[in-house]
Amino acid sequence: MQLDVLSIAAHRDDTEITCGGTVIKMVQAGYRVGLLDLTAGESGTRGNAALREREANRASRIMGIVHRENLYMPDAGVEPLREYKLAIAQKIRDLQPRTVILPYWKGRHPDHYTTGQIGYEACFYAGLAKLPLKGKPYRPHKILYSSLYVPALRPSFVVDITAQFETKLKAILAYSSQFSAREDMQNLFPSRKDLRERVGSLARHFGLMTGVRYGEPFVMREVAAVEDIVTMPVKSI
Ligand SMILES: [Zn+2]
Repeated sequence: MQLDVLSIAAHRDDTEITCGGTVIKMVQAGYRVGLLDLTAGESGTRGNAALREREANRASRIMGIVHRENLYMPDAGVEPLREYKLAIAQKIRDLQPRTVILPYWKGRHPDHYTTGQIGYEACFYAGLAKLPLKGKPYRPHKILYSSLYVPALRPSFVVDITAQFETKLKAILAYSSQFSAREDMQNLFPSRKDLRERVGSLARHFGLMTGVRYGEPFVMREVAAVEDIVTMPVKSI
């Protein structure tokens, strides 16, 4: 299989929340997009792994991605282990994504930032010939970091997801076990109404940076190679 985009995330629903609009936008543009979740969400307070798998399948259908799989690393136990890096590297070789999306490499939740760190190393490992991996050495052309979980960070660029916002919300709502109808639980688990407001205000915050309604933030480590400084897109004044 050859993917155009592979989003690697710690938990089911992380991709939907942080860059679901971008994933949907790339699917709509005709690209082959896949997701790799590292854990199955078995330690979450709500729901269980089987329920979250059904929810993830529903979200995948809503987004229109062509591939999704899970590496079943322990939830709250994504560690910088060699075996984990090799497991991700094998998937990079199998799926040959042109662009990889990783979570930003710093943050509050160790699973999130560790995924950013070991995901980066796995992309490098996938290109080394002498490691115990099947298939031909392969390295993605580009790694992007989704930084929505670190909202104070200034992104390198923002993707306009105004037209994809409602579908993104629908994909997040597929994880219905995570949302509460009870008011007393809403600090931990937002209600559906509150969710729309939370997702919307963050998307609005990033959208404002480039003069669009809703946006999703990304950080690049690599330097952008620009051909034409006249048509290069930035916020219109
Ligand atoms: Zn997460």
